[in-house]
Amino acid sequence: EAEKNKYTKGRKLGEGTYANVYLGTLKSDPTKLVAIKKIKIQTDYKEGMAPDAIRELKHLQELSHPNIISLLSVFSSKDQNLNLVLEFLPLGDLEMLIKDTKNIRYGAGDIKAWMGMLSRGIYFCHANFVLHRDIKPNNLLIADDGEVKLADFGLARSFADPYRPMTSNVITRWYRPPELLFGTQHYSGAVDIWSVGLVFAELVLRMPYIAGDTEVHQVNLLTQAVGTPTEENWPGVSKLPAYTVPLPHTPVREKDYYNQMFGTAGIVGVDLLMQMLVLDPSKRITAKEVLNHDWWYTDPKPTRNKNLPRKG
Ligand code: ADP
Repeated sequence: EAEKNKYTKGRKLGEGTYANVYLGTLKSDPTKLVAIKKIKIQTDYKEGMAPDAIRELKHLQELSHPNIISLLSVFSSKDQNLNLVLEFLPLGDLEMLIKDTKNIRYGAGDIKAWMGMLSRGIYFCHANFVLHRDIKPNNLLIADDGEVKLADFGLARSFADPYRPMTSNVITRWYRPPELLFGTQHYSGAVDIWSVGLVFAELVLRMPYIAGDTEVHQVNLLTQAVGTPTEENWPGVSKLPAYTVPLPHTPVREKDYYNQMFGTAGIVGVDLLMQMLVLDPSKRITAKEVLNHDWWYTDPKPTRNKNLPRKG
């Protein structure tokens, strides 16, 4: 393809679990910077799979929204590696801001602004039948105008065909919803909403809310944090492939519990958070309903982008 000849690959910017990331420039205009993400080959990566992956990713190129990182091009190199050419976003991600408690202070209006951008990005994905499937602070990159952009659609795929079984081993453990921990194969946009809820919780607490060391530990911590999934609060849960009865039994957490823990978000914000962290995915708030929630219209107003805290 001609795509790979449009860019010059420069120095390495960073290394992730699945990819090396390089600085790139557009040959026709070297002032235009991009990030070239070269996906590391898996050992079981069969010959001829790259074209498939490319086809899946091609439709992501059409997802154009201020809160979604632009995928400018996709190509495979000689070694069958998959290369993603992405919008260059060097200002880091939300995880860096959350963790930098020494230098970064932020409040309710800032959290509301970031959550608004995240929610609009997710709504746009879902309205276009794309699940993100790996939402976490580290995948929320910050643009120089302060805009938060959903990145790392590595696991994203269309959910246009709800009966096509999907793998449940997705989403970084801490942000993984109960239905995936229990091994469901038919999931929906609700998986992303759960992760969005945990990003919200983490923005308030400035530490991950449910940080399990293993999947079993994750289920136990989730149960303590939110409540035990039962047939009463989630009809059908006991039939999921990996369902176990987490002990001891914890009643579903109520308003008072959340208000005490997440008071910074205010009573209306806590209401939204609780609706994102509903155990039964069919009762969890949808992205569209999130955007219609009262919190956005309650004081304090979301901080303007130019006034948001940023990496020093
Ligand atoms: P991780 O998710 O572990 O951070 P990634 O593969 O997404 O791994 O990225 C590795 C590193 O490359 C990041 O930490 C960041 O420094 C850099 N990087 C990734 N994407 C971009 C981008 N679009 N623009 C600028 N730098 C990026």
